[in-house]
Amino acid sequence: MPYGISYAGAESDYGSADAFILGIPYDRTSSFRAGAREAPFHIRRASYNFEETLFEHGADLPRMNVFDQGNCEDSFLPEDMMDEVEFFMSRAVKDGKFTVAMGGEHSVNIPIIRCFGKDVALITIDAHLDSRDEYLGTEYSHACVTRRAAEHLGLDNVFSLGVRSISREELQRDDIVQHITSFEIKDKGIVWAVKTALETIRSERVYLSLDIDGIDPAFAPGTGTPEPFGLDPADVKKAINIIGERLVGFDVTEVCPPADPSGITSVLAARFINEALAVRAKSLL
Ligand code: MN
Ligand code: MN
Repeated sequence: MPYGISYAGAESDYGSADAFILGIPYDRTSSFRAGAREAPFHIRRASYNFEETLFEHGADLPRMNVFDQGNCEDSFLPEDMMDEVEFFMSRAVKDGKFTVAMGGEHSVNIPIIRCFGKDVALITIDAHLDSRDEYLGTEYSHACVTRRAAEHLGLDNVFSLGVRSISREELQRDDIVQHITSFEIKDKGIVWAVKTALETIRSERVYLSLDIDGIDPAFAPGTGTPEPFGLDPADVKKAINIIGERLVGFDVTEVCPPADPSGITSVLAARFINEALAVRAKSLL
């Protein structure tokens, strides 16, 4: 791949790959602190921290063929970023690959979802509902992710988990994006929350978008807009496993390396990518 190291274990060529990884170094709509454009490099580097086998999934787990495309071009305008992402992702989706994207900020999810057609549900894990019509002059801001997805997939096919920051403007809408707060998850448990989401959405196929700020900043401090009272990382691991066979694509966004001097947030992001790949590999059994 052209831009430095590739993701650990991503040794396949495109044609024989079951899974397709793309880095999207985009952070131009970030509202509080930028730096997410550096995340793909740091997450790839962190991926070398782990064993190739996740023993809790079983030693006979099929080894997935993974292809790392590298990063798409950095862009300034969100429209240019969207064209770039669509160029790579539409082909990977059409070719039946399991797609994994590393942001960049959360807005990178907007073009990815559009590559999946309409029969897929989006579940996000996020501190924020991200359902504004527009923010700071663009409708493609990272504050508009679920609103854009709802326009494409239908309001009944978008569900946010772990939310704890919602603006009045978003809260007072009739067409509010379906969500379960982190406070409810702490009371009733992640199993209840994910099952509720899976029973509520319309489509069988699920795309999971993990905005790393959904996790508590004590575990994932390196992010642009940290928000207290977040999810436990082990609960997010569990969520990926409950979605299980229904998972068709995954992204992790909003890791901000300049705010992550210890690198632990990139380590966590890489570990979630490995979890998603393992869960996908199980459905190949
Ligand atoms: Mn977000
Ligand atoms: Mn967020």
